[in-house]
Amino acid sequence: MKTTELTPGIGQITVNTERLWDCLMTHGQIGHTSKGGLNRLALTELDKQGRDLFKTWCEEAGCTVSVDEIGNIFARRAGLNNDLPPIMTGSHIDTQPTGGKFDGCFGVMAGLEAIRTLNDLKIQTLAPIEVVAWTNEEGSRFPPCMMGSGVFTGKFSLNDALTTKDDAGISVEDALHAIGYNGNKSHIGHKAAAYYEAHIEQGPVLEDERKQVGVVIGALGQKWFDIEITGVEAHAGPTPMHLRKDASLAGAEIIQFINELALKNTPHGRGTVGCFDVFPGSRNVIPGRVRMTADLRHLESGVLETMVKDLHIKINALDQKYGVQTVITPTADFPPIAFDSTCVSNVREAASALGYPNMDVVSGAGHDAIFMADVTSAGMIFVPCEGGISHNELERAKAVDLGAGASVLLNVLLLSAGIAEHD
Ligand SMILES: [Zn+2]
Repeated sequence: MKTTELTPGIGQITVNTERLWDCLMTHGQIGHTSKGGLNRLALTELDKQGRDLFKTWCEEAGCTVSVDEIGNIFARRAGLNNDLPPIMTGSHIDTQPTGGKFDGCFGVMAGLEAIRTLNDLKIQTLAPIEVVAWTNEEGSRFPPCMMGSGVFTGKFSLNDALTTKDDAGISVEDALHAIGYNGNKSHIGHKAAAYYEAHIEQGPVLEDERKQVGVVIGALGQKWFDIEITGVEAHAGPTPMHLRKDASLAGAEIIQFINELALKNTPHGRGTVGCFDVFPGSRNVIPGRVRMTADLRHLESGVLETMVKDLHIKINALDQKYGVQTVITPTADFPPIAFDSTCVSNVREAASALGYPNMDVVSGAGHDAIFMADVTSAGMIFVPCEGGISHNELERAKAVDLGAGASVLLNVLLLSAGIAEHD
């Protein structure tokens, strides 16, 4: 082993931003849409082409590539001590039908770029480094989302995942066979000493605050509900105002209340009514029924519980006020996640040492890193995307910001893997 004099300290090395950008643009040709986005649904022929190219690039970079039973691809760069569990990084290369070039792909290619940079600098790490491309993160063709990391971390059973069918009746198992990614590596997660994921923010905060790097401290917990309000349909003319049981009035107050509830719990509270259907939907009939959804989020489970309790209290009061009956049914429940404090401080330290303006942020969306946080120390690095727009063909990110995020990734991988040798 060489002396530590030659060992780069944190913040001393950066990735090749131009090579990262070229890699994203080249990979982004596979499934590109006329509006500059991507349509590369999981386990399609285009996904196969994207996987093949990634695999080729990893092999060219000296990595050993393996595929597990749910099609997750692992590219391992050997360390000095290969008995040590690897430091893992990655994301996904499948997209929404009208997705962008950066959601997911950035995290995978940033991992590859980190390995290419280590090769350039002839740096050997103590522990191996592994870049993973998770299968079907988007869940667009085959629900649910984060399928590959879900199976890897034991959240979903392999059999349930493999038997999931798309709208055409094709199962995940058949689709994996068709593209040749039905791997033989056990789906039971091999150990990872840490997991880092670089990702575009998919929200507007970093751009608004003029920061280049987001240090992701955790992910918001989510509670989803279906709400059905039953009133009485009646004629809009003959029925005086005080004798109505108008379901839409109660619904409108619920929308207002959910908004207030989130505002009362800033900065990490969120409250959204995304669906609001009024029945019978006729201009001269007082609505007898409303079906709506509620999506409540917060970083602290206690606060989230209180938000839900307050919503129930409000709904009971509105039932009295408007003479309606409301049924509220939970449909999804994801607890908040706090990322590992060492991973978080590594990301913060690396971003500051590299001189990138940064701030702590939370993830409002789901990511593979959230499942990985259950089985190992995990952290995430966000970079801004234009207008916070994602899951959209118009999704854009700046090369300089992507390079900054990938450089932070490179440095935290080194911090966690340890440096064995450097020329
Ligand atoms: Zn993503």
